[in-house]
Amino acid sequence: MAYLMGSSSQKKKFDPEKFDPSPYTDTAMRQFWKDHMDHFVNKLIEHTYAIPEINERFEKLVKEVNRRYGRLTIARITTYFPESHSILGGAGLSKDGSAELSLIMPAIMDAYYRMQASGHTHLEKLFEHMVIIGIMHELDHIAHEKILGTRSNPPPLSVLLDKETKAWALTCEYTIRPLVERHGVPLTPSDFNYYNTWLRADRNVESSVWKEFIRNTYIDTALKRN
Ligand SMILES: [Zn+2]
Repeated sequence: MAYLMGSSSQKKKFDPEKFDPSPYTDTAMRQFWKDHMDHFVNKLIEHTYAIPEINERFEKLVKEVNRRYGRLTIARITTYFPESHSILGGAGLSKDGSAELSLIMPAIMDAYYRMQASGHTHLEKLFEHMVIIGIMHELDHIAHEKILGTRSNPPPLSVLLDKETKAWALTCEYTIRPLVERHGVPLTPSDFNYYNTWLRADRNVESSVWKEFIRNTYIDTALKRN
């Protein structure tokens, strides 16, 4: 099986000293998933997503993840990352050595309600594309890197920056680029910032413009880990 949907609760592994609890109840998080995310995540998994480039990319990345790790689980995580409540997703290994893509539900919901409060006209679509970009970004990590560290034991700063520099380059080129250039999809300010910088860096992963941008973006979060 190429894909498994993980449990929405992480209670067994929950350590209040490491992970900040959600302000939303489990019921509210489950309902949010049902109302705002289930439909497009399922289409992605079933390879019936409306944008062909995204289907192809997803299929390619999942194939590579399965080749490397045997299985991919998408887990809905019900606590924040303590380093930053704006981290929406993560990539790691399960206890059995298979790959795990985490969706951080409280942070994702915060992002949705912030977008709603600022009165976006195409809220659901904007949100959908933000999550799709997030999922593809985590898959870019899992499919192309040796996964080091876990959620509670992340890799050191230099390793983290190198990984983000490469993974965001792939996400900008193979996910955001077709979304914007071929389908005219609007982006959140954060995703726009990544893509705009990627263009300014001449789409070159070795560019100092690109490396500086990633460093500035991740330094605060990364420093809190040490
Ligand atoms: Zn990343």
